[in-house]
Parts: sequence; C-alpha cells; structure tokens
Amino acid sequence: MLLRLSTDDESRWAAVQNRDTSADGHFVYAVASTRIYCRPSCPSRRPHRRHVRFFLSPEDAEAEGYRACRRCGPREPETAAGRRIREAQTYLEQHLDETVTLERLGREVRMSPYHLQRTFKRLTGTTPRGYASARRLEQMKSRLKEGKSVSRATYDAGYSSPSRAYDHSRARLGMTPATYRRGGQGVRIAYTVVPSEAGKLLVAGTERGICAVTLGDDAVGLEAALRAEYPAAEIERGNGELEEWARAVVDYLEGAGGTERLPLDVRGTAFQRKVWETLQRIPRGSTRSYAEIARELGQPAAARAVAQACASNRLALVIPCHRVVREDGGLGGYRWGIERKRVLLERERRRPA
Ligand SMILES: [Zn+2]
Repeated sequence: MLLRLSTDDESRWAAVQNRDTSADGHFVYAVASTRIYCRPSCPSRRPHRRHVRFFLSPEDAEAEGYRACRRCGPREPETAAGRRIREAQTYLEQHLDETVTLERLGREVRMSPYHLQRTFKRLTGTTPRGYASARRLEQMKSRLKEGKSVSRATYDAGYSSPSRAYDHSRARLGMTPATYRRGGQGVRIAYTVVPSEAGKLLVAGTERGICAVTLGDDAVGLEAALRAEYPAAEIERGNGELEEWARAVVDYLEGAGGTERLPLDVRGTAFQRKVWETLQRIPRGSTRSYAEIARELGQPAAARAVAQACASNRLALVIPCHRVVREDGGLGGYRWGIERKRVLLERERRRPA
C-alpha cells in the first residue's frame, strides 16, 4: 500500500513538472511554504519537491488550510479556452529566450492569432507579448537577487543584450538592473512618519516623487518594512517637501483636498497602472467591486488580475485600493489590515466627497 502511494505521488510530481493539462481535475498539489494549492498545469514557478503535498480534491486541500491559487483557479471548472491560454503561458515561459510570434503561439495551442490575442488578454489582463516580457523581467530580478552578474542574468532571462534589458527595466522598475541588484544602492529615499486617523502613516519619496505610502500601528515597523524593500538604498528621515506631501495625504484622509497634484514614483506593469488610475477616479464615499473595475477597463474577465493589482499597490490612500470590495459586499483584502479598511470606508461614507 505504501509503495503504491509513493509511486502515485511520483507520477503526480512528474505531471506537475511537465505542467500536464491532462492531469487537471484528477488532483491538486499544495505547497507547504506558501500555503497555496494549484492545478497540476499551473503556469507558476515549480516549488521544491520537499514542500509539495498532493490532494485528490480542492476540498481536501482546503480542509488542511491551503488556499486556492489565484493564477490557475483550481476550484473553478476550467473552460477549453482557459486551458489553452494556460498552455500558451507555459509555452511562453519555456521560450523566454526567443521571440515567439502570435502565429507560432497560435499553432502551438490551436487557436487563430486574433482569437488567441483577444482571449489571452481577456483572461490574464495582458497580451502574450506583455506576459513574456513580464516573466523575463521577473526572472532577471530573481537572478539578480541571487547574485548573478548583470550580463549573465540578462542573457539567462532571454534578453539579447544587456542594453535591451537596461532600456526595458528602466521603464518598469524605475531603477536600472544594477541598482535593483544592489537593493536600491545609489537611490536616495526620504521618509517621514506622521499620526493619522488610520494609524501611523509613512510617506516615502525618491527625487521623482512619492514611492510608498504605508499604514501601520507603529513607526518602527513601517520603517523596517521600507528598509527591507530597499536594503541598500540611502534611507533617511526627510523634511521639507516630504512633510508637505505627508500633510496632503493626511488632509485627504480627513476629507480635505485631493491628491491629484502629488508627484508619484510608482513602478508597475501597464495593466497595474491602468487599474491604479481607475482607482483614483472612485470618489470618496463610494466603492467598486473588482469585477466592476475589470468591466470599466474593458476586460470583464480580469477581476482576479484587478485584485492582484490592488494587492500590489504601494501607495495607500493616494491610490485608494481600500475602495474596492468584493462583489458580494464582503470587504476583500487590504494590505494594511482589514480592520483599517473597514474604518476608512465607514469614515468616508459619513463624509463623502
Ligand atoms: Zn496555481
């Protein structure tokens, strides 16, 4: 019996490594280090075998406290289109060092280029090309953090030359690859922490604008989180302009003035930026659901991608992700604490725009 079980697990592990779509629906795999479970064919990065457990159904995994992956949605019955799009994602990830045309990708997953482009965008919030380029950037970032040299990492990540990677990442990261590798070395970040109705408020900025607005119970924790994100940046308490920015955010929180004129230094993908811009148009006192934002962007199936963009927002209040709630009226998540979100929304309802 034991022998039989371990053999099964071995074939399951092989299916996971091959992202075998035909194994979907037969079992899910759960990752102990992240507490997430996935379909066998999930396009996300493969975990270490030692962290992996197998369950026959999503319910079994959830009974053990695992949460469903947002990327492969192991709870939802999968449509044929959804499966092909995940196959396309996997194919792109396996060919990051090449330029995969829409025609070639279409042949690979048996869809016309036009239909592929549209469906891909509808389900993932980005185009195949945008997806490949985001994965390349992600791969390069992780290699840089592992300490590989810039030229090695750029070639490993599928860029034809360091200068291409350089141009690309300057637009996306706001920092050059070398700077990122050094944890923001050479970047000067000033911050201030002020009290507010929603707890301690940290506002940090580079010379280009505000790069972080975070909320927490104490200044020490907020400072530590900022330093952890940019371990090598020159971080110091600031004053002058920074205090003006912080005052503007506090005023805004209290119902006075707007934040439109604050200079922002945000980094995000094109899709994230579109979501964040849409959030900035939600008036105080109102809320939207993730699905409504997706519809507003003309991508009604991208609600999950919208939720992810909200979760990666670094600018509390200024980009009011707290005004996005679940379709069923539930609060959804909040990076700075669900209770804080509840309080913010209550205050705003009492004092709308
Ligand atoms: Zn997954």
